[in-house]
Amino acid sequence: MAYSKVDQGILASLRQIIPDPKRLLTDKQDLAGYSYDASFGTYWPEVVIQPKNTEEVAAVIKLANAQKIPVYPRGQSTSLSGGPLPVEGGIVLDLSKMNHKLEVHADDLIAIVSPGVLTAAIHEAAEKVGLMYPPDPSSSAVSTIGGNLAENSGGPLGLKYGVTKDYVLGLEVVTPEGEVIRTGGRTVKNVTGYDLTKLLVGSEGTLGVITEATLQLIPKPPAAATLLAIFDDIVKSGEAISKVLTSGILPAKMEIMDQACIIAVESYEPLGLPVDAEAIILIEVDGHPRAVEEEIREAAEICERIGARQVQIASTAAERANLWKARKMVSPAITRVKPTKISEDATVPRSQIPAMFSRLKQIREKYQVNLVVFGHAGDGNLHPNIVADKRDKEEMQRVEKAVEEIFQAAIELGGTLSGEHGIGNMKAPFMEMELGTAGLDMMKRIKDSWDPNNIMNPGKIFPKPGQKLNLTEE
Ligand SMILES: Cc1cc2nc3c(=O)[nH]c(=O)nc-3n(C[C@H](O)[C@H](O)[C@H](O)COP(=O)(O)OP(=O)(O)OC[C@H]3O[C@@H](n4cnc5c(N)ncnc54)[C@H](O)[C@@H]3O)c2cc1C
Repeated sequence: MAYSKVDQGILASLRQIIPDPKRLLTDKQDLAGYSYDASFGTYWPEVVIQPKNTEEVAAVIKLANAQKIPVYPRGQSTSLSGGPLPVEGGIVLDLSKMNHKLEVHADDLIAIVSPGVLTAAIHEAAEKVGLMYPPDPSSSAVSTIGGNLAENSGGPLGLKYGVTKDYVLGLEVVTPEGEVIRTGGRTVKNVTGYDLTKLLVGSEGTLGVITEATLQLIPKPPAAATLLAIFDDIVKSGEAISKVLTSGILPAKMEIMDQACIIAVESYEPLGLPVDAEAIILIEVDGHPRAVEEEIREAAEICERIGARQVQIASTAAERANLWKARKMVSPAITRVKPTKISEDATVPRSQIPAMFSRLKQIREKYQVNLVVFGHAGDGNLHPNIVADKRDKEEMQRVEKAVEEIFQAAIELGGTLSGEHGIGNMKAPFMEMELGTAGLDMMKRIKDSWDPNNIMNPGKIFPKPGQKLNLTEE
């Protein structure tokens, strides 16, 4: 597909839609800030637009579609898979300024939000009225709800409460042809026709621009308790995870850190963690106070029975925060080891967690890479992270091979390329490996019918012929 360039004529038309020069950026220093996200590669947009309302978005998209100019929706660019990168130039649509609406309607247990609202602001607004918006990506303090919806983001609470798609009742969307549509509504039950809401959530900005969302809220559980269990054997920790999950307890969170993470955290900020242990698991239960008390005790007993070296239980908010400190520290700690972090989220069925751990161990040794593993053990969503130095080409080539093998392992074990970070441009080359030719073709046909000129976020999800993972070229 040959795209048009943003020439002076198109700029003049865009200026008619967005007359405020502060919201239409063309200076190199302004564009630079939009040329990267939290993944890899630098791609320059030709123009950045900061719309304030749906009408402006629709007018920009109509123009872009008529002129065949690619458009890249963007929230706060915390994507780890390359989602908002303008890989073909064109227009970046910065939706982070569209953050005027955050209404909580407690009687209907819903929130109605603009796409640029930060996820943490939704958590706060819901909690003020005793409610909860459960999807909790670790980036929630900085990422937008639009980005969460487009990536179908998840987090530790996904185990019990599900992910973003489970809390979306309705959307307002500008289609790739510039029409404004509404999907779903504000009722929990809605079976009118195709479920376009579910199709749009997780479509990574390739099927339109989300301009408003109606989210479902739930009552906030009154109590919670956390345990931290230390294991000398990572396979035993996997057994403890399975045993807790099949015991009748459904924890709210169940996270794991491997030995490399424990060592990195201890050398970053000593917390007294045992650096000789092979794994730490954190389990949190929530609900009615009496049930919480009983369930956390039972989970602790299971861990001890399976062979935990030590188990600690915390029930006050401060004690719980203290136990979670180690897990929260992993990301900053591992980037101290080396500057470049390749953060994957290959996910496997829960019974395959021990097998995935041993495949990851083999990959670490085969390619001699700094591979650490942490993540959401309760739902099989592991985060194998490789820390490297992108200036070292030889090391990065080994990393590329290791990453490819991580995906292969996940798929061979019945898992998936992505549990929550999306496909973007980074994982597009592996899509056929998971979906097969016919599966990928069916997705492509949906994309083609929604977006006949392929202007919405091209270069994402669908690989170009022969496209390979490339971590060595900027
Ligand atoms: C430190 C860190 C921790 C993270 N932890 C998690 C985690 O726990 N769980 C998780 O799931 N992810 C996590 N992420 C990844 C990332 O934060 C999420 O994918 C997040 O949803 C992206 O939001 P954003 O506002 O930054 O969107 P961007 O990165 O700007 O965009 C992401 C995608 O959404 C599209 N998009 C953005 N807004 C819209 C819109 N209004 N309409 C249509 N498309 C749109 C973009 O085109 C792009 O494809 C983490 C990232 C970092 C850096």
